[in-house]
Amino acid sequence: MDLDSISKHSALHAKPSGLILQYGTAGFRMKAEHLDHVMFRMGLLAVLRSKQTKSTIGVMVTASHNPEEDNGVKLVDPLGEMLAPSWEEHATCLANAEEQNMQKVLMNICKKAAVDLQQAAFIVIGRDTRSSSEKLAQSVIDGITVLGGQFHDYGLLTTPQLHYMVYCRNTNGQYGKATVEGYYQKLSKAFVELTKQAFSSGDEYQSLKVDCANGIGALQLREMRGYFSQGLSVQLFNVGTKGKLNHLCGADFVKSHQKPPQGMEMKSNERCCSFDGDADRIVYYYRDTDGHFHLIDGDKIATLISSFLKELLLEIGENLNLGVVQTAYANGSSTRYLEEVMKVLFSKAAEMKIKQLAKELEDKKRKAAKMLANIIDLSNQAAGDAISDMLVIEAILALKGLTIQQWDALYTDLPNRQLKVKVADRQVICTTDAERQAVTPPGLQEAINDLVKKYKLSRAFVRPSGTEDVVRVYAEADSQESADSLAHEVSCAVYQLAGGVGEKPQPVSEDI
Ligand code: MG
Repeated sequence: MDLDSISKHSALHAKPSGLILQYGTAGFRMKAEHLDHVMFRMGLLAVLRSKQTKSTIGVMVTASHNPEEDNGVKLVDPLGEMLAPSWEEHATCLANAEEQNMQKVLMNICKKAAVDLQQAAFIVIGRDTRSSSEKLAQSVIDGITVLGGQFHDYGLLTTPQLHYMVYCRNTNGQYGKATVEGYYQKLSKAFVELTKQAFSSGDEYQSLKVDCANGIGALQLREMRGYFSQGLSVQLFNVGTKGKLNHLCGADFVKSHQKPPQGMEMKSNERCCSFDGDADRIVYYYRDTDGHFHLIDGDKIATLISSFLKELLLEIGENLNLGVVQTAYANGSSTRYLEEVMKVLFSKAAEMKIKQLAKELEDKKRKAAKMLANIIDLSNQAAGDAISDMLVIEAILALKGLTIQQWDALYTDLPNRQLKVKVADRQVICTTDAERQAVTPPGLQEAINDLVKKYKLSRAFVRPSGTEDVVRVYAEADSQESADSLAHEVSCAVYQLAGGVGEKPQPVSEDI
């Protein structure tokens, strides 16, 4: 380690005094102007992580659905997964170190994590379309170079594409080709093969409106759509030429305001979807003939995909030892079921077996195995991916001959409301049971339980945000009024018991 050059370069990427950050599930996120030193230091850390794992590590520069002025950074571990928790701590220590202590902190990480400094390091970098991203990615590269790491800068990528690249590289190309072209081809080939089998793919299935949140999704989809145009034509909106990133558009806006994004014309019963700023999240929606807006997200997406997979698995039958997957469905939510099924399907053994069956089985079963194999190829196994999810959903709708209204009507949610409460420190809230029960602060869960009892068919839970000092409140009940009122009451309990700051939560008004 060339300590002199580390000090010299650290000074060039000076830390604003008094700034304390914490690495969370989304990495580091804040105003872009305060992030230069963090980027440099995450370049250093990525090199150490790469040396330790003897693998390629990813660094993504993005702040996802946050406003344009923000930015952020997160590291991607060898199989495209999130950074290991012990390294999140190292990231926090390194980001907060005073300049004179940088060498000490680096040495400490090497000692604790048994990093072999002689080992080679390779890092891949991607960034979103924020105006600050290019310069910040350069600071990451400075950090990598100071520690002698090699790198490949992919430039503009969606977050899940970077995860894909990392996964490809660490499986020696077995998963796919580690290029943007390789990503387009792998997914598109699976999609086109899948939809070829759809008898019902009339015009109504072949067109989809996509709100790209004025972000990276627009650039990628524009390039990619030529590859899958046989199966689907997409019409892109909010492509970044006029509007601001995530402003009045994108998945989070549509979900929290329960209305269409600006800049997208929506006729009744047209199938529409929105990505978030780094294209790892998607929601679907439509307007019915009465002009009412209908959102389809989370559980309904999971239910569509998981019930389709379940049908395929049943069709293939006893040849696949995936019984666990079929019984889990009865006892869990569809989201959890989907996670479980995917975990099984993405195992190398299952994938190989399914691909083998697709060649061997008799006609009807073979067709199901082939579809399943294509769904595996169409899914981004490394990370949640709006483009991949969109293509999976579109393929299933076409294969099943479902319109968006029919999909929506298959599974009816109770009216619900989501609210946010600002708190001094989000860490006062700890949850368990898949984030449905609050363990701390004391008394909060009891208060929620008491409030829930006041409403019919109700449930409510609270979760700390992964990125900001905000607690998210979710409530559902038999009517919208009840869901609104329950959400408000739970927000007040959070405000009171979990250190709320600013104005007290107000009752939900019509125009939220
Ligand atoms: Mg995102």
